[in-house]
Parts: sequence; structure tokens; C-alpha cells
Amino acid sequence: MNYSIYFSFLSFFYIVLLIIVFFSKNRLNTLENKIYRLLIIICFTGSILEVSQMATCLIMDSLPWINDFVAHLFLVNIFTWIALLFAYTVVVSFKKETYKKILTVISFVWLVGSVCLIILPIEFFFNPGDLFYSYTYGPAVGALKVLCILFLMFSIICMLMRIKQLRSKKYVPILVYTVLFLITGIIQILEPTLVLMQTVQTFVTFLMYFTIENPDLKMIEELNFARDQADKANNAKTEFLSNMSHEIRTPLNAITGFSQALSEEEDLPASAKEDVKDILMASDSLLEIVNGILDISKIEANKLEIVNTYYNPYKVFNELVVLTKARLGTEKPIELRVSIDQTIPRTLYGDYARLKQIILNILTNAVKYTNEGYIEFKVSHLQKDGICRLIISVEDTGIGIKRDKIDKLFNKFERLDEERNITIEGTGLGLAITKRLVQLMQGELVVQSLYGKGSKFTVSIDQRIVTDPVKIDDTGTLRVNTNEKPHLNAAKKILVVDDNKLNIKVATRLLEDYGVTVDSVMSGIDCLEKITAGNHYDLVLMDDMMPKMTGTQTLAKLKENPNYKTPTVALTANAIAGMKEQYLKAGFDDYLAKPIERKELDRIMNKYLNND
Ligand code: ADP
Repeated sequence: MNYSIYFSFLSFFYIVLLIIVFFSKNRLNTLENKIYRLLIIICFTGSILEVSQMATCLIMDSLPWINDFVAHLFLVNIFTWIALLFAYTVVVSFKKETYKKILTVISFVWLVGSVCLIILPIEFFFNPGDLFYSYTYGPAVGALKVLCILFLMFSIICMLMRIKQLRSKKYVPILVYTVLFLITGIIQILEPTLVLMQTVQTFVTFLMYFTIENPDLKMIEELNFARDQADKANNAKTEFLSNMSHEIRTPLNAITGFSQALSEEEDLPASAKEDVKDILMASDSLLEIVNGILDISKIEANKLEIVNTYYNPYKVFNELVVLTKARLGTEKPIELRVSIDQTIPRTLYGDYARLKQIILNILTNAVKYTNEGYIEFKVSHLQKDGICRLIISVEDTGIGIKRDKIDKLFNKFERLDEERNITIEGTGLGLAITKRLVQLMQGELVVQSLYGKGSKFTVSIDQRIVTDPVKIDDTGTLRVNTNEKPHLNAAKKILVVDDNKLNIKVATRLLEDYGVTVDSVMSGIDCLEKITAGNHYDLVLMDDMMPKMTGTQTLAKLKENPNYKTPTVALTANAIAGMKEQYLKAGFDDYLAKPIERKELDRIMNKYLNND
């Protein structure tokens, strides 16, 4: 009794099982996967042929050609499977250009080999006493052995050539399977009565499924790859956007700076003054767009951090009211109702800049999308365990939002009711940023709206209560209305450090309005030279992004001298919120964003030069 028959039936059973499992799942369409699919199919046909060959031995005497034909087909089938395994190895091991060439050679050898296997004669050993005790030998079987060993050897050589790729997860299993196959081939040559080839083929096909060709694993692999690619693309986009925003800010700085200076010119004709005002307004919108794009890309790249400081919430709310009043103007008949709970603690710890940005976005929208009636800005709070939950709501009697559109409200670049809002400026970024910021601050944002009647946006955010009043950091608060343009004396000297000539020109133009003396240099190194040469300045405005030595590095060098006490202000186009705190941490006394805002400049001049 030859026990090989049990192996044959067992492998048939396994391959049927594998076919059901494999083909019932979603598959990928990579070349490797296609080859593996063929491996399974060839394995299945091999199993059928093997059993058929044994069965046809029974009719060998009456219909010898059937038995002969099936035996030849079986040999071709085994050879095809080995050729496919070789092809799989080549695809995994080499780059596309190389494996394409090798695959052509394999196909050619397979074709010639298969023809030989069909033509060459085959001999049978058949024991009539034992139904299934049969095996084949002769020239065709000899050719098959040579061809198989040839392919397997080349397969191993290919893998050894790419040994560095060993880290690839697929590589080790394939190498093991190929070696396993080679050993089986040798055993088969030594002991022809053991009909093992088909069984080992099934076994390897099965193992491949569980190790390297499982569609689920492949899907995860593919997803990971796609995610990595998307991350890379997203990072490149963020980088590009932040560079662009920086680049746009520099010329924008010149436009706003000179327009600002022009608008203050007393002998300018009234019509020109109007034009300058329009230029300023247009630059403001442009700046808002640049900031929005920068913010959203930072948030999406997870590069936006929440920077907590001590602050006075009343100052933040007051400033928001002032800004909203200014945005409201006098053209629309809208009443601004403000109600701020006076029991909110005086000092909180949190990211006031982001909080302000969130509320300002909502208030600005209320102004934009309301034509008459009122806007109610209400702040209340809940207090528990040292935490103050700020509940901020903005209610308007504006155009409202359709119920089915509310979901789309927070999509970036999505604007609702475009036909109606055609005249209202906007990018569709405001609420997308707002929502992500609220999430970053672990808060909640709720929208209620009735189309045609109005909307209510409610934000709740937890902030820590600070009971120790000494800790209040004045830089964390924003002053409103206290910054009258100071007139200083010409003895006050300011040094502007910037690598861009136009920026120096703008800063000089704006600073000279205060009556001070302005000096400038175009690099950190020149700045160090000037100051170490004994030149005294009352204030240094330092750009950060300069070639060779950045502003931050220059300041660090200046501070190596313990006598260096000159207030140094970071003057930079790197103006996303949160940067201010970073610059303060780096040792700067203050921060001034480009394009320079007159109010901010007034504040700086008052703070550092107006000793009176
Ligand atoms: P933008 O105002 O720049 O278009 P936003 O992201 O701030 O972008 O808002 C998205 C859309 O949501 C707006 O285009 C507008 O259609 C709608 N929207 C936002 N706030 C209001 C509001 N208070 N009333 C009515 N519609 C609003």
C-alpha cells in the first residue's frame, strides 16, 4: 500500500478550502497578488490531475493515451507552479525594470520546458495489486526534475543577490519555502515511489496564505503604505503653505507699512486717503486668508500646539467687543448686546490667543451673515474643582443655516448658500479652524440655527483658575485703546535687523513717525558687530528668519554678554498664533508680527521707549 494517496486527497481538501477562503475576500490587484492567485489555481488543477492520474491507471490497458495525456499535463502543471514561484520571488526581489526582463526570460523557458515535457515520453510504474501504487519515470520526468531544480536554484540566487532586502517581511518565508521545495525535489529524485511534489506545493501555497499573501494583511500593508504616502504629501503641503505664507507676508508687509504711513500723511488729498484705506482693507483680508490657510495646514499636520499662559479673561472679552464693534461699523442696523458674567475669575490659565481666535471667528461670522436685528455675545461660567468652564454664546438674527447644511458647516473651504452670500467675503476656513481649535482645547461647540431667522453658536471650554495673583503675566493680556501714538525724542535710537531691504525700509518709515533715530543692519553678524563695537540702542527689532544666523541665535549671542540689557523684540513673518510665546521663551522681550500693525507698534514704543 502506498500512503502517498492520503497526501494527495489531503492536499486536494486543503486547496479547495484555501480557494474558498481566498476568493471570498476582497483582494488587491498587485502583480504579486495576481501571481499568487495563479499559484492557488495551478495548485488546485495539480491536485485534480494527480488524483486523476492515479485513477486513469485503472484504464491504462484499454485507453492508454488518456493516462499518458493526464500524466504529461500533471508534469507541466508542476513545472508551471515552480515557474510561478520563481516569478513571485523575482517580483518581490527586484525593481520593476529588472523584474520585467527576468519575467520575460522565465516565460520563455517555461514555454520551451512545457513543450519538452509534453513531447518527451513518459513511463509508468503501476502495481495492479495496489490500485494507487503508481508513479512515473522516464525522459519527461527527468526533464521536469532538471527544469525544477534549475528554477529553484535561480530563485535562491536571485534572493541572495538581494540579501539586503532581508528586512522585508516577505523575504524570509519565500526563501524558506524555496529551500523546502528544493529539498523535496531531491527526496523525490532519490525515492521516486514517494509522490510528494503536489502535497508540498499545496502545503507551501497554504503557508504563503498565512504568512505573506493573506488579503487582510496585504490590505493593511497597502493601507499603511498609502497612509505614509499621504502623510508625506500632507507634510510637504504644510511646508509649502507655511513657506508661501512667509513669502507672501514680506511683500504684504511693505504694502501695509507704506499704506499705513501714507494714510497718516496730513497733506494727502482726500480721494488718495480713501484709496489708501481700501488698500489697507484689502491687505487685511489677504492677511486673514494667509493666516487661515497656515492655521488649517498646521492643525492638519498636528503641528499646532496649545500654549497656556496666565491671562485676564475680561481683557480678552473686551478686546473682542471692541474688534466686533469695529467690524460691525455703522452701515447695518445691528445692535451688539454684550453680557459678560462678572463672577468669572480674574485670572485664568489657558491659551487665550486660541480662545480669542475661536470667539472672534464666530463673532465675525455673526457680523457677516446678519443684516439687521441684533448680535448677542454672552459669556457665563461654571466653576468646579479649580476649573472654570467658560460658556460663550453668540446669537444672531441673521440669515440662518438650512438644517441639512449644518453638517457641512465645519468642512474646510465649504461655504453654504453661495448664491446668497456671493457678496460676502470668506474662504470657508473660519469654522473648520474654529472646530479643530475647540477640539484641541478639549472643549465643545454647539450650533443651533433656524433658516431665515438666525443662529446661535455656543462654545464651552475649561480653563484653570489661578488664585495666586502674582502669577499674572502681563504679556498674556492684550491692551486696547491705551496705545496712543507716542512722540519720542530723537535721542532714542532703534536698531532694525532684517535681511530684506524692503522690510528695513518699511520699518524705518514707520518708526521715523515717532521721531526716533533708526539704524539698520542686514544680518545677525552685522548686528553683533554693531553692538559689540559699543553702539548703544534703546530698542532692537530683530527679524528671525535670516540666513547664516537667525534672530534667535543672534539674541543668544548678544545675551552671552551679561551687560546686554537692550529690549529686543522679535519682528517676524512667522506669525501664527503661539509663535509669540515661543519667541518670549527664546529670550525676546516682545513680539511684533509682520505686516506690522500700527497699534502693535504703538504698544511696543509705549512700553519700551516712552519712559515719561
Ligand atoms: P466663511 O465665513 O469664510 O465662508 P466659515 O467657515 O466661517 O467660512 O463659515 C462657513 C459657512 O457657514 C459660511 O460660508 C456661511 O454660509 C455659514 N455660516 C457661518 N456662520 C454663520 C452665521 N452666523 N449665520 C449664517 N450662516 C453662517
